[in-house]
Amino acid sequence: MNAIDELRKTKFTEKLEQFILKKRRAQTNLDEYQTRKQKQQPYVPEDNTDQICSLCKCFYVNYVTTTCQHNCCQKCLFDHLLKCRKKCPVCSRELKGDFAFPCLSIDYWIGIAQKNNKDYEVKLQEIELWKERGRVKEFTVGMRLDILDTVFVWCQGEVKDIRYGKNDQPKQVFIHYLGWDKVYDEIIDVDSFRLAPLGTNTQQKNVIQYKQSNVETIQRSLNINQNANSNARETNHRSLIMALASQFLSLRNDLFNNQN
Ligand SMILES: [Zn+2]
Ligand SMILES: [Zn+2]
Repeated sequence: MNAIDELRKTKFTEKLEQFILKKRRAQTNLDEYQTRKQKQQPYVPEDNTDQICSLCKCFYVNYVTTTCQHNCCQKCLFDHLLKCRKKCPVCSRELKGDFAFPCLSIDYWIGIAQKNNKDYEVKLQEIELWKERGRVKEFTVGMRLDILDTVFVWCQGEVKDIRYGKNDQPKQVFIHYLGWDKVYDEIIDVDSFRLAPLGTNTQQKNVIQYKQSNVETIQRSLNINQNANSNARETNHRSLIMALASQFLSLRNDLFNNQN
C-alpha cells in the first residue's frame, strides 16, 4: 500500500465516522422529538371510566364539577336537582351559591375521542333538543313563563318589565312569581337557564312543586314575622318617647328645685 492509498483510507474512515455520527444525532433528535410529543398528549386511561357520568352512564356532555368535587353532565345535574333540591347527586351534600363549574377542555377532548361513537352522537343531539325546548325565544310584557326560583323549585311567573341592551335586544326581565308576594320579584338575564316557556317544567311529573297548603303556611309565617317586626318597631318608638319624657320630667324637677 503506497502513501496515496494510505491517505485515501484515512479520509474514507473520517467521512464514515462523520456520517455515522450525523445519523446517530438525527436519530437521537427524532427520539427526543417523539417523546416530547407524547408528553404533550393528554392522559387517556384505557378503560375510559373517568370520562363516564355516574348518572347517565355515558360519556360526559357539558361536563360540570360541583363544589364538593363530584362530576356529572350539566343536564344530569339539572334533572337531579329538580327532584332533589340542591343536593349533590353523588354525596348528597347541600349545594350553595355557584355550585357547578363547567370545563370546556374536557368537553373538547371527549368530543374528539368520541367522534365516531353513535351513542354519544345521539346523546349530543338529545341535549341540544333539551336546550332548545327550554329556551324562551321572545319576551313581551305580561307574558307568562316558567321560572326556577332561588331554592330550585319551578314556579309560574309573569314578565313585568323588559330591559333592552345593545341592538334593542332584550337583556334582562323583571319577573313576578304568580301567587307570591312581590317581595320575591326579581331581575333575571334573558339567556338564564332559570327561564323556560310556560309549562315546560311546571307541568311535568316528578318535579318538586309548592303545594297550595305549604304556600299558605309560608305566607302566614311571613305575615306574622312582618307583624312582629312592626310591633317591635312600635315598642321601640314608645320606649324612646317614655325615655324622653322622663328626661324632660327630671329636667323640670331640677329647675323647680333650683327655684326653691
Ligand atoms: Zn350524565
Ligand atoms: Zn358531592
